[in-house]
Amino acid sequence: MADDRFHVYDTTLRDGAQQEGLSLSVADKLAVARHLDGLGVGFIEGGWPGANPKDTEFFRRARTELDLKHAQLAAFGATRRAGVKAADDPLVAALRESGAPVVTLVAKSHDRHVELALRTTLQENLAMIRDTVSHLRAGGQRVFLDAEHFFDGYKSNPAYALEVLRTAAEAGADVVALCDTNGGMLPDELAEVVHAAVQTSVRVGIHCHDDTGCAVANTLAAVKAGATHVQGCANGYGERSGNANLFTVVANLQLKRGFDLVPPAALADMTRIAHAITEVTNVTPNSHAPYVGTSAFAHKAGLHASAIKVDPNLYQHIDPAAVGNDMRMLVSDMAGRASVELKGKELGYSLTSATSRELVDRVKDMESKGYTFEAADASFELLLRDTLTGERRRHFEVESWRVIVERTKGGELVSEATVKLYAKGERIVATGEGNGPVNALDRAVRLALEKLYPELAKLELIDYKVRILEGTHGTGAITRVLITSSDDTGDWATVGVDENIIEASWQALEQAVTYGLLRSGRDLD
Ligand SMILES: [Zn+2]
Repeated sequence: MADDRFHVYDTTLRDGAQQEGLSLSVADKLAVARHLDGLGVGFIEGGWPGANPKDTEFFRRARTELDLKHAQLAAFGATRRAGVKAADDPLVAALRESGAPVVTLVAKSHDRHVELALRTTLQENLAMIRDTVSHLRAGGQRVFLDAEHFFDGYKSNPAYALEVLRTAAEAGADVVALCDTNGGMLPDELAEVVHAAVQTSVRVGIHCHDDTGCAVANTLAAVKAGATHVQGCANGYGERSGNANLFTVVANLQLKRGFDLVPPAALADMTRIAHAITEVTNVTPNSHAPYVGTSAFAHKAGLHASAIKVDPNLYQHIDPAAVGNDMRMLVSDMAGRASVELKGKELGYSLTSATSRELVDRVKDMESKGYTFEAADASFELLLRDTLTGERRRHFEVESWRVIVERTKGGELVSEATVKLYAKGERIVATGEGNGPVNALDRAVRLALEKLYPELAKLELIDYKVRILEGTHGTGAITRVLITSSDDTGDWATVGVDENIIEASWQALEQAVTYGLLRSGRDLD
């Protein structure tokens, strides 16, 4: 477990998920949590159990499905409602029952917000904090407090804002995180307020939004002023301009300020982790992101090129290897031989060096065309099997498929797909209808195969993600489709890439079915 003297606290799954256009399923949240744990963060805020059914489900599944090595889960929620006891508030009960070792309570610290938004008295707000914190502490959970609108509150009524901190600490909160909720602060003025808060001898944390483009700078200024708990989000996700980018914060503190926050080997994996999370969130990675962007250490050829050859350190602020980046990291370069061998071993295959070299070449070639295997482990395993056996064996071979999309008189769109395929020596033709072309193809394939492989009835497509990738070398845009499928024992993801979205979907779908059959014990031999 991470050192308690300084907290790296991630809020991607709660505050980061507020980003416009970002929508995470429970499985996505579990996947992001695993990646963050791999980086070595101390705390992962999973969401608001009780207030949001998906988050309640996340905490329930986390108990059996997450095996965290470094991080502890934190449940987020509000102080009790005005006028009731914490013990009688169902939302507080949901926090208690989440099973999370840590609860982060959000509380008002701005007098005007207490009166206008909460519509209660300043005294009752303090009582709500005291009662809720001590109630949860008595139940054995650790409590942090997010002091909402703290900086604006301090400007409005400094004595009251500080009283909120003291009240929380006296009731048993270990940390009070000062939140720049509106994100309007600049580093110098923020540091003065943090300094004043630290003087109360309460343990202070910091939570910044990037509305002034200063979220990371503000976080560093707060640390300099005495904060020992930093909050932020993977890749700077968050509503409006985003939250403080936790990756940038960690890299800055560890590499520039000598903090020992995450294991150096994990930091050296940060670029891969940052990209793997974008595959889950389906948000195009920012190539200019500090430290982890593909352009972060890329140099324009020409003036610098020859000097870089002599001494690369003349042109870069750190050794990119410290964060797992490279002077020019193509996505395909992420599939090094070591990682392919590791992944193969993880899946239970032992690869000779000749096979792993061949597999790396195939992975690199396919990734340069837009495939990604970070988020499509089932496609990777199929590729690995094909490489091992030297041939592409499947449970069924496709002769052709066809999809028709029809707009009816009533304006309704219906899709009809026909697939022709061979399986167990039979030629099968089947037609399926659906609300979209992929849905129709899925139904047609199942109809074609259900007699031969009844176990396909358990297979379900649970997620479908599309990303348009920019073309390279004068080609048009290409489409990448990621499909997540599940049966009664787990889920798996497959990928397809083509200029045509239906072909890309078909590739992912065909692999999803193939892999599903392998999982259920239908070997190819
Ligand atoms: Zn926030």
